Amino acid sequence: MSSSVEKHVFQAEVNEVLSLVVNSLYSHREVFLRELISNAADAIDLLNFRALTDHHLLGDDQELRIELVRDEQARTLTIRDNGIGMSRDELIANLGTIARSGSKKLMQSLTAEQKKDLSLIGQFGVGFYSAFLVADSVTVTSRKAGSDEVWTWQSEAKGDFEIRPGERRGRGTDVVLHLKEEAKDYAEQWPVREVVRKYSDYVRWPIRMEVERTEGDAKQTEWQTLNSARALWTRPKAELTDAQYQEFYKSLSHDWHEPLAWTHWKVEGTQELAGLLFLPAVAPFDLVERRKGGVRLFVKRVFIMDDAQEIAPEWLRFLRGVVDSEDLPLNVSREILQKDATTRFIKKQVVGKTLSLLEELAGEGETEREVDGEKKKVRRYELFWDEFGRVLKEGVYHDLESRDRLAALLRFHSSAADGWHGLKDYAGRMPAEQKSIYFVAADSLPAAKASPHIEALRKRGYEVLLMTDPIDEWIVDALREFDGKPFVSAAKGALDLPATDAEKQAKEEKQKHFGPVLERVQKALDAHVKTVRVTDRLTDSPACLVSDEHGISAHQERVLRDAGHALPDKKRILELNPDHAVVKKLLAMDDEAQLADWAALLHDQALLAEGALPPDPAAFGRRVAALMGRL
Ligand code: ADP
Repeated sequence: MSSSVEKHVFQAEVNEVLSLVVNSLYSHREVFLRELISNAADAIDLLNFRALTDHHLLGDDQELRIELVRDEQARTLTIRDNGIGMSRDELIANLGTIARSGSKKLMQSLTAEQKKDLSLIGQFGVGFYSAFLVADSVTVTSRKAGSDEVWTWQSEAKGDFEIRPGERRGRGTDVVLHLKEEAKDYAEQWPVREVVRKYSDYVRWPIRMEVERTEGDAKQTEWQTLNSARALWTRPKAELTDAQYQEFYKSLSHDWHEPLAWTHWKVEGTQELAGLLFLPAVAPFDLVERRKGGVRLFVKRVFIMDDAQEIAPEWLRFLRGVVDSEDLPLNVSREILQKDATTRFIKKQVVGKTLSLLEELAGEGETEREVDGEKKKVRRYELFWDEFGRVLKEGVYHDLESRDRLAALLRFHSSAADGWHGLKDYAGRMPAEQKSIYFVAADSLPAAKASPHIEALRKRGYEVLLMTDPIDEWIVDALREFDGKPFVSAAKGALDLPATDAEKQAKEEKQKHFGPVLERVQKALDAHVKTVRVTDRLTDSPACLVSDEHGISAHQERVLRDAGHALPDKKRILELNPDHAVVKKLLAMDDEAQLADWAALLHDQALLAEGALPPDPAAFGRRVAALMGRL
């Protein structure tokens, strides 16, 4: 019936993901079996869930299972499941396009050179296309549960695939791998057994295979279950090895990397709950925009839903894992979940256990780990922070109850030393007379380090947190204080540094001494600044601009403008350093036009030091040139 064969070309990005999978995983090709078995198990989970409300779906094919069928002569291995199956359109969409729009966008944005970077595989996940690691042709025949139609998808991964009517007895899917010559071992009993034992032992559905047995002289075959078929999370921790957890994680997430850490727990009592949650080592590229999480909800071992946001908040969307409740009804829907008190209990547990895991990691010293192919001494918490800190911070905003625990988990750069610093360490290093936690925000770390606003703080030996993530200032605004010590922006309000009476008096005298000059500068800059005053914030620079103590900082304003918000211009305070030679010269200047020029230059310099542009860059250039011409 060649007339009913339709040819389809793969979406361009599929070819790219396909070649990425095949090239990067070549030396680990046995992972194909884990991936295909995990797809089969998911398909059975889905069927099992639907069958809760639609008993007819099971029909007389009640024993849910995965079968591996080998044919050494034909050199094929078939992964068969009696799960949910795929319709014609689903075969085309699921196996011919990349559904995840993020993956497609990323592929499109990469250059040809970047696409050769095999480490990218970690960001895409492995999945169905790994079949082509061992097969030069793959045939998928599927019957969707509840349907009479059977369709066959076939491809040699050469840019296209075929769809035609197929034949198959019950519902479910057969993935037939026509093995490459060098992979023909996978049609033999022992290699297949070995791979299942290694990668898929914990799969919660039986994986069955026909095996040969010799009894006396007679050779017999019989169906055997190759795995222990007990959901991993229900087993006692003491029984499980790290390798088993790692394999479970990989099959759950399709991630190629080992997880960074995990937590496995049970709650017993009025509520019964088991959870196994993983922190991935590498963030997916679309983590920040992505709103979905990766915690699967099970009820009494029955899969209920993926990405259950009701049980894991958005700010924990990097988590992967499962939660299995004994108390929710099996026919639970999103609507019920949203209202149910059990859900709130589960969410609390998920948040609490994750925070405990993070706290444990944060308290851990350096360990040896492979980073970018090299063995390095690292802190696991810092690896986590580099990948996911950006998302965790959102929790400070969204989860009042966890705020204090989250605050202790935040990490910042600091003027004290390179690397990440926690607030507890900062507080521990504060000199006795220092009352506040100081911070400055800028577009980059060098800009923050060089900020004039922190000159005097540094000179006094006060540490300053250097913030470069646009969200950081909002985070500390929300926190207000840590351990009773208020956060103070070095670029806002009066710094109110602890001062002796003599110092206070000296400052007042300077303000008086400079009074008339300050007024003249103010007049010259009236369009741009609100007030001009002397400062004790500066040691080396002549001037800086500061915002009012209340309201958002100039850096926050810039971040908002860059994000497209229209904000009214807000005048700031110009602070002059009374000990600076240039500022002292103003005292003796009687030409008003010259003073206005100098005032404008001081103002523009202060802006430049923040990484902002002067209001009239051309005028700034002219003034500098004129000044140079006078030498
Ligand atoms: P992922 O599992 O990460 O979504 P895959 O490339 O492995 O990506 O699979 C793509 C999709 O094809 C799956 O999401 C699923 O909808 C469908 N699929 C794959 N294998 C099966 C199967 N055995 N039964 C039913 N659907 C399947």
